[in-house]
Amino acid sequence: MNQFICNRCGKKHDITPTLWKCECGGVLDIVKDTPKISVAAWNHYPNSLWRYFETMPFAKNTKTWESITMGEGQSPLIVLDPLEPNTYVKVDYMMPTLSFKDRGAAVLMTKAKELRVSKVIADSSGNAGTAIAAYAARCNIACEIYLSDETSPKKIAQIRAHGATIKEIHGTREDIAIAAQKAVDEEKVFYASHVYNPYFYEGTKTYAYEIYEQLKGVPDSLIIPVGNGTLLLGAYYGFKELFENRLIEKMPKLIAIQAANCAPLVNAYEIGDAIAEPVTNIGTLAEGIAIAAPARSKQILEAVRETNGLFIDIKEEEILSARAMLANKGFYVEVTTAANYAGYLKYKKEPEEKIIIPFCGAGIKSK
Ligand SMILES: *Cc1c(COP(=O)(O)O)cnc(C)c1O
Ligand SMILES: [Zn+2]
Repeated sequence: MNQFICNRCGKKHDITPTLWKCECGGVLDIVKDTPKISVAAWNHYPNSLWRYFETMPFAKNTKTWESITMGEGQSPLIVLDPLEPNTYVKVDYMMPTLSFKDRGAAVLMTKAKELRVSKVIADSSGNAGTAIAAYAARCNIACEIYLSDETSPKKIAQIRAHGATIKEIHGTREDIAIAAQKAVDEEKVFYASHVYNPYFYEGTKTYAYEIYEQLKGVPDSLIIPVGNGTLLLGAYYGFKELFENRLIEKMPKLIAIQAANCAPLVNAYEIGDAIAEPVTNIGTLAEGIAIAAPARSKQILEAVRETNGLFIDIKEEEILSARAMLANKGFYVEVTTAANYAGYLKYKKEPEEKIIIPFCGAGIKSK
């Protein structure tokens, strides 16, 4: 079956339940060709992200996903304001655990199930942990989630409800990841990481496929929040596959959003660096994107540059006012998601520019 390839040294590895990075320290990608997309095949699948099953690197006849899916995907694409008919929001919080992370978690846990693992460990700022815990419960796989002792209590309650063991760590997001990775290596279990395991991106790429179907084509631009870049890279890979299959004629521009108080990628982008140097998170309400040392910074920067995209950083007060504005339009989003709208308000769009803002997390997840 498939192998992983190191993004840094190019070494190929057989996929095993315990492999999560190369011995050189590089992150892993899946060895595969661009899938040959058969649009006609999509209707043979339920109305969920599994419509695009045949584009994912699974054995053709496997049915594992059928007992794991909770109907994730196919989120609504809505015009936010009739006065701006080319601006859409994709309501990705309308998912089983109320965030876009269900896209990746459903696919990643399907892979874990196929590898017959009995336990997974993950670390998260909240929503990825919630999604992994839910799908682990669905798979009957034991789950341990490492998170900060300052994570939103509602997210912790969600994770606990699914029966996962919670490891609350007092420290930075990076300290938490290191603690989880140490446990993974010591216990020799599956690291269900949304950052390191590339099967997660096979789930988030369906964001692009859905937009392609909903718009009957490609938008000009995508606003995307970036912490570890799992939605950004997924959207990029999805549109790239559509482009290489000649289903769309161009790539959408990626407009990446970071919180000014924790913006390693904005810095790297502005000075033209290929990778992001870690920064110190000086504190942001946008907990979902507060990543000071993103492991896939090279790939994120390449994707944004290749699409002639840009980075926008958002101040704390802009986040809160954007959240109130969205609530006034009927959408109650989590605080992190308000940064996406704040980024849209700052972005100087062209007349008629077709642009999509993702609503990644639901309002009741935040304080
Ligand atoms: C995870 C998350 C993000 C950021 O995703 P990354 O993969 O870290 O870039 C943004 N918003 C919400 C609501 C999230 O849960
Ligand atoms: Zn390597």
